[in-house]
Amino acid sequence: MSVTSSQLLSKVKQDIAEVTAEQVQKQLGAGAEIHLVDVRERDEVMDGYISGAALIPRGFLELNIEEDVTMDRSAEIVLYCAGGNRSALAARDLAFMGYENVKSMIGGFKGWKDAGYQFEQGGLLSEDDMQRYARHIILPEVGEGGQQKLLKGRVLLVGAGGLGCPTALYLAAAGVGQIGLVDADVVDKSNLQRQVLFGESDVGRPKVEAARDRLLDLNPGIDVRTHYELLTSHNIYDVMAEYDIIVNGCDNFPTRYLVNDAAVLTGKPVVDGSIFRFEGQATVYVPGEGPCYRCLYPEPPPPGEVPSCAEGGVLGVLPGTVGLMQATEVVKLILGEGKPLIGRVLLYDAMDMKFRELKLRRDSECPVCGDNPTVTELIDYQQFCGLPSQSEAAG
Ligand SMILES: [Zn+2]
Repeated sequence: MSVTSSQLLSKVKQDIAEVTAEQVQKQLGAGAEIHLVDVRERDEVMDGYISGAALIPRGFLELNIEEDVTMDRSAEIVLYCAGGNRSALAARDLAFMGYENVKSMIGGFKGWKDAGYQFEQGGLLSEDDMQRYARHIILPEVGEGGQQKLLKGRVLLVGAGGLGCPTALYLAAAGVGQIGLVDADVVDKSNLQRQVLFGESDVGRPKVEAARDRLLDLNPGIDVRTHYELLTSHNIYDVMAEYDIIVNGCDNFPTRYLVNDAAVLTGKPVVDGSIFRFEGQATVYVPGEGPCYRCLYPEPPPPGEVPSCAEGGVLGVLPGTVGLMQATEVVKLILGEGKPLIGRVLLYDAMDMKFRELKLRRDSECPVCGDNPTVTELIDYQQFCGLPSQSEAAG
């Protein structure tokens, strides 16, 4: 005996429970605990899906429902597809697995959309992004969801010098969606020994412009914003407002304190790095979770005590190592995975090829993040002696 598709569907729909889009909308509005599951294929979901729905194509539903949605057989589950047929068949199969409270939404996503209810878009990566980020997506700690977080990441690099260059390259390659570069310098021939964003033909160009061209060539899918200016108390809040994480690749005192204070006062994490000759270090300052720069160095040294303001030498490969420690920490912060360098600093000695870690503590007397802060406004410290500019200082 055989049955037609339509006979099968009408039989299945008698056996399972169905709900209308209106009922689902009301229940969700009332805060009911419903597990919404979208069983359509990838290309269908690209046009939109209901907020909060788990996206599991019909062919993977029985295999993934326990891990992606719930093991609880009494949980309330509402399945939907495009028009309400595939979700009905899917409901029958979940019932077979012992799920007791499964419903299929009549009319599917089309019905939901036609009723004028809200939905979300951009829930899935495009085919192009699936290819580009395949080696990320295959990692369980990243996956498609983690890649989406990276694509929504907004990171400001202070300084497009020795540290900023490798950090920017790898963040762009990793798909960090919005990268800002602040630097007031032009490319100099002596930069090319280590500032790997630039080439011979960039000499004389503003670093931020040359950097943007290179980063967009590497990954045209991201947004690269340029800030061709020095950071001061007048512009830093405006510049920082567009970003969630600050990467400090500068090593002059005025900018370092300015970035620290602005980050503490706005609650934004700073991924810090510095280099000198053959040594480097990196740490992460997260307001409320660990110390800030002023916890360690409450005030800048008086101008007379700054050892030497002449440009020091730096081994060309050194900023690559430290810049990539910073890039790694940024990626972890965006993904919310791993243990960031909060409350500890990683020291690197290139000559001995040794890494060392020191603990850092928040100081309750800290002038900016302490219990009774005295620094409540931004301070423009003087550029004492001929300190190199933001990017130069970091090599
Ligand atoms: Zn502090």
